[in-house]
Amino acid sequence: MSPKRVKTTYDYEIAIIRKALKSLAPTLSVRKGRGTAYGWIDIFGSGRFREFTEKEKRALERFGLPHGVNKAVISPESRRYWVEKAALLLDIELPEPLKRAYEEEDREREEARRRMLELKRKQETCDHEWVVMPYKVLFPSDPDAEVWRCRKCGLEKIVTKRQIS
Ligand SMILES: [Zn+2]
Repeated sequence: MSPKRVKTTYDYEIAIIRKALKSLAPTLSVRKGRGTAYGWIDIFGSGRFREFTEKEKRALERFGLPHGVNKAVISPESRRYWVEKAALLLDIELPEPLKRAYEEEDREREEARRRMLELKRKQETCDHEWVVMPYKVLFPSDPDAEVWRCRKCGLEKIVTKRQIS
């Protein structure tokens, strides 16, 4: 017997999207994307070449999802948007594990934003102490340019020797 696989956020997400789309058109096929980077969701129709029927097209349009003749996709970055839309359509709460994952995501984003602001404030009020970094400026490539970094706040800037002399 194979061990029971733990459901991932992605599993919960695809299940809700599948349920919502199938409530609009039961013949739609909603699958994990294969052959591409992790996390895409593929949606196909029930036609011979996976084309969408008129009913399936109307279902996708009602959901608001753009589609081609025989394929629609949901990207990893937009998954949460479609999941929340699907939950709204089904008039259900998100499952606990998914709700927790999203709350964690929100907390992390808020924390990152807070750290960015803090750093920005620190850099704006810092009495900089510059050191020249031992690497070259590659973009744009300029042999006369140096990277200066403040040892107190971490701010970096590019200075060309022409500016100094
Ligand atoms: Zn500084």
